[in-house]
Amino acid sequence: MESRWPIGVFASIDAGLGVRLEVARELGVHTIHLHTPHAGSRTPARAAEFNRRLHELEIRITCVFAGFEGESYADIPTVARTVGLMPRDTRSARTAELKEIANFARLLGVDIVGMHLGFVPHEPGNADYQELLAITRAVCDHCRGNKQALHLETGQEPVDVLIRFLDEVDRDNLFVNFDPANMILYGAGEPIAALAKLGSRVRSVHCKDATWSDRPGETWGREVPLGEGDVGFEAFLRTLDEIGYAGPLTIEREIPQEPERQKAEIGRAIELLERLKAAYA
Ligand code: MG
Repeated sequence: MESRWPIGVFASIDAGLGVRLEVARELGVHTIHLHTPHAGSRTPARAAEFNRRLHELEIRITCVFAGFEGESYADIPTVARTVGLMPRDTRSARTAELKEIANFARLLGVDIVGMHLGFVPHEPGNADYQELLAITRAVCDHCRGNKQALHLETGQEPVDVLIRFLDEVDRDNLFVNFDPANMILYGAGEPIAALAKLGSRVRSVHCKDATWSDRPGETWGREVPLGEGDVGFEAFLRTLDEIGYAGPLTIEREIPQEPERQKAEIGRAIELLERLKAAYA
């Protein structure tokens, strides 16, 4: 059996967020979360080609992360307007595309699909909230047909809102991708307490760090190198241990415009996590 907490990195092939596969390999990382390739690359032939390349690089994809044309993380209002399934004018097209991404993930042999749903409204009576519930059920049922789970990324809502949403969707293949930095960046609450509360619902994680905004929820906090922010990775690993999480620790550092710095910082993040992991060996 694979040892617990293998180090991973958020990566991409031809599009989107994360480091290139070669960088993951150079860093000695063997598991990745893959940001979904462009629509034009999501074909059986390209999947076979990607699988050959991954095999050569000795890299395993543990989660395919959905992403959509037109999403922007520029600031909090822009995220609310553009990200995930919340924007009404792209909702049905993106829902169809999400199912197609899940099918592509199946071609890659991946049984977890991750995504940002977007800013889910907090009021259960809200029409968007009800529609999001129905869509998430439909996507979960589609993923079930592929023997996959759907993991919702945390951060854009407080933990109690997320738990209520998960409970109301009521599907046993719906879980959480826990990103502690997002809780801080979006001002959605203390991440370690949220992690403990989510417990066994957490089935994948992003190791990312951030500092709080002076106006949480209104303006972004700041994403910083792992260990330099307000998450507290010693407490993060201790809590993962307490909730029984043994899966990959997937490092996410989104500064793709500075690839050399990104690689160096991920290298240091790996060292930090390996050192913290050693206490649990
Ligand atoms: Mg993340």
